[in-house]
Amino acid sequence: MTNRQLFLNHIGQTSDSPLCLEIVKAEGCKMWDVNGKEYIDLIGGISVCNVGHRHPKVIEAIKEQLDKYLHVMVNGELVLSPQTEYAKLLTDNLPASLNSVFFTASGTEATEGAMKLAKRFTGKTQIVAFKNSYHGSTQGSLSIMGDEYWRNAFRPLLPDVLHLNFNSFEDLELITEQTACVVAETIQAEAGVIVPQNNWLKSLRKKCDETGTLLVLDEIQCGFGRNGTLWAFEQFDIVPDILLLGKALGGGMPLGAFIADKNLMDCLTNSPVLGHINTFGGHPVCCAAGLAAMKILLEEKLIDSVKEKEQLFIALLSHPKIKIRSKGLMIAIEFENAEENRKIINALLNVSDNYKLSDNSPAIFTDWFLFAPQCLRIVPPLIISHEEIKQAGKKIMELVNSI
Ligand code: PMP
Repeated sequence: MTNRQLFLNHIGQTSDSPLCLEIVKAEGCKMWDVNGKEYIDLIGGISVCNVGHRHPKVIEAIKEQLDKYLHVMVNGELVLSPQTEYAKLLTDNLPASLNSVFFTASGTEATEGAMKLAKRFTGKTQIVAFKNSYHGSTQGSLSIMGDEYWRNAFRPLLPDVLHLNFNSFEDLELITEQTACVVAETIQAEAGVIVPQNNWLKSLRKKCDETGTLLVLDEIQCGFGRNGTLWAFEQFDIVPDILLLGKALGGGMPLGAFIADKNLMDCLTNSPVLGHINTFGGHPVCCAAGLAAMKILLEEKLIDSVKEKEQLFIALLSHPKIKIRSKGLMIAIEFENAEENRKIINALLNVSDNYKLSDNSPAIFTDWFLFAPQCLRIVPPLIISHEEIKQAGKKIMELVNSI
């Protein structure tokens, strides 16, 4: 059986039309498939590979950790230096109130942990989230996902969840003394890059303060420089009570975290003890990789070029047939409808029979957004070069011109 057949027969599938690209190598902002075909990667594992695929310093850190220990016991009892060093670097680069890091193995587990912490700390039950928001696929995160189509088949879900309109000042009035926490993406990603209006996040912060509600900001997709600052919330002059991280946090390895003030976090240590536990969260190899990736992000000043690269994409992609929404290197190109977008995505992959290996211009790997299937996703590694942006932009424009 070929690998493709094994994939189709023995790997749990998520759709009835998988791309089935057999990737054998990835480096920097490029990937290669089993036929030697080259791709410019415009999605970087969905906002994971901010420092690029296989950055040599990340590989070195992983190898160094492999020579010491892999899994011992990560949950709470043992002092493991990849965790402590990473927690120090993270909290040194966060506001003083975000000083305690609870590592998880994925983004959705960070969401779950934060919701539990908010309920435990406030003694309240209601959770407020926003329409078109995505916080993960497990049942708690699914309960606060902002789209009924994706939730409905899995009911019953968590009770006492209220969905408000993102950017609506009026809806903020529905946050009350009964609300344990509000969970929001700082920049809504799967909605097709929706940026908070002027002062809306500040009003949300104020309403949370007035009602004794914890503000949880999900920066799992938009954190780590993607939007032009290390954390997206810095651009809105607010600080969350709990910050959710994932994706780029692990430098290409699976890692998530919820981060809060120690006083808040310590609730999980009593009544009941072990209020939140997991076997693999904060795995030493993942922390070593994430720590190396964050050091690269800061030392190589990768965030400094994000806005300029965003502007280059925008300049190359301006066309009357499309709308662009962006915040740093999180860009949505909106087409008339999902079918048009799907055609462009497939054409960029060169999956048609016309593709020839002698054509040495690389294909472009991109994607759509969960709640905005008419939008093409551009969330490349932040190290993407001007040349790669130009190559990708040129191909996208050729196709836009042909529709
Ligand atoms: N929150 C946001 C904003 C995300 O984009 C994602 C992943 N797409 C998650 C949470 C869930 O992360 P994970 O897939 O690691 O569980």
